[in-house]
Parts: sequence; C-alpha cells; structure tokens
Amino acid sequence: MRFPKTIKVGPYVMDVKYEEDLEYEGDATLGLFSSHDLEITLSADMNPQLEIGVFFHELVHAILWTTGANYSEEYSENLCTSLGNGLMAFFKENKIDLFKVAKGDK
Ligand SMILES: [Zn+2]
Repeated sequence: MRFPKTIKVGPYVMDVKYEEDLEYEGDATLGLFSSHDLEITLSADMNPQLEIGVFFHELVHAILWTTGANYSEEYSENLCTSLGNGLMAFFKENKIDLFKVAKGDK
C-alpha cells in the first residue's frame, strides 16, 4: 500500500515519503512526522497492516501539531498510538476505503 504523496492536514499540505532504513537520532524507526519539513516519512517495505498503523500514528502527530496541542513526549506518543490504532480499526472494521471516499467513488 502506498499513501498519496501529498495530504492535507488542517491548513497545510504535507508530503508523505518512503525511506529505506529510516532512522531518528541514530535509531531505527518505522515513521516520522516533521513539522519543520511538513512531511510524514514511512519506512519502506513494512508489512501493509503495520504501514497503515504507522501512518495513522504519524497523522495524529501531524493533527496535534496543527491544532497547537502541546503535550509531553510520552503522553503524545501514547495518544498517537491509541488514536492511530483506533482510527485504523474503525476504517478497517467498517470497510471504509479512504481513497475511494476521497475520490467520491461508490
Ligand atoms: Zn510517535
């Protein structure tokens, strides 16, 4: 699965990128949100289910940033994982294809 190369989050257009051997501060990671670069970066070649879960996690980071939320790192990580997995399950269990919805397909 590949997410669109650009997404709108709040008032911003953000890039979604894939990168091999993704790292954050020297450690391997599966996903990153950068408010500086307005982009979400996902590790390439993840299990497709994990890719969706990581995307939603990073998307919640992006949403929180656009709203000016200022939580501690630990709280923010827990919130992003909880809401990210909750959103993933909601769309999956209700069989809602996000990309068809976005295009207006039936
Ligand atoms: Zn996170």
